[in-house]
Amino acid sequence: MSLPIYLIGARGCGKTTVGQALALALGYDFCDTDHYLQQARQQTVADIVAIEGWAGFRAREAESLKAVTAASKVIATGGGMVLAEENRLYMREHGRVIYLNANALVLAARLEAYPLADQRPTLTGRPVAEEMVEVLAARDALYQLAAHHIIDAMQTPDAVVNQIVSSLSLARA
Ligand code: ADP
Ligand code: MG
Repeated sequence: MSLPIYLIGARGCGKTTVGQALALALGYDFCDTDHYLQQARQQTVADIVAIEGWAGFRAREAESLKAVTAASKVIATGGGMVLAEENRLYMREHGRVIYLNANALVLAARLEAYPLADQRPTLTGRPVAEEMVEVLAARDALYQLAAHHIIDAMQTPDAVVNQIVSSLSLARA
């Protein structure tokens, strides 16, 4: 039984980077709910938000979570996936949920270094460091609530992968 592994956390915490490395280490498939959604709709996240608003995007996001869920898969989720209780419960019920925890300054530094890493508009239009403090204040409790394991994501990606593998007592491929 190789339950899906859901990676949750704010933008920049390493869900994509760590998720791909984790999938390789375990011999699992990897997918990213944002990428899935953009491919399925042939629209960027920014397009979907512009056309349907954030509420519309959140509804599509919940659908994509269910569509990508499968055994032996590492699933990187959008930063706001935990906002809906439905999504938190779904992930806890169907797999193991890992919170990649990093502080606002680290997240902002990563996002500022690679501003085009994703196409998602900022939530508030204000400087990214300020925004990350607010986003974490609003969401940290939800990430903790949803997670089976909380991992320090401010280590190297390899160290983060090792900690996930051992916290889930899984064997490397
Ligand atoms: P997410 O998918 O959670 O938004 P990414 O995996 O895209 O985050 O990472 C955002 C940026 O931070 C990328 O440039 C990535 O190279 C960098 N990064 C991710 N994890 C780490 C880490 N553990 N240490 C240093 N840099 C990292
Ligand atoms: Mg990502």
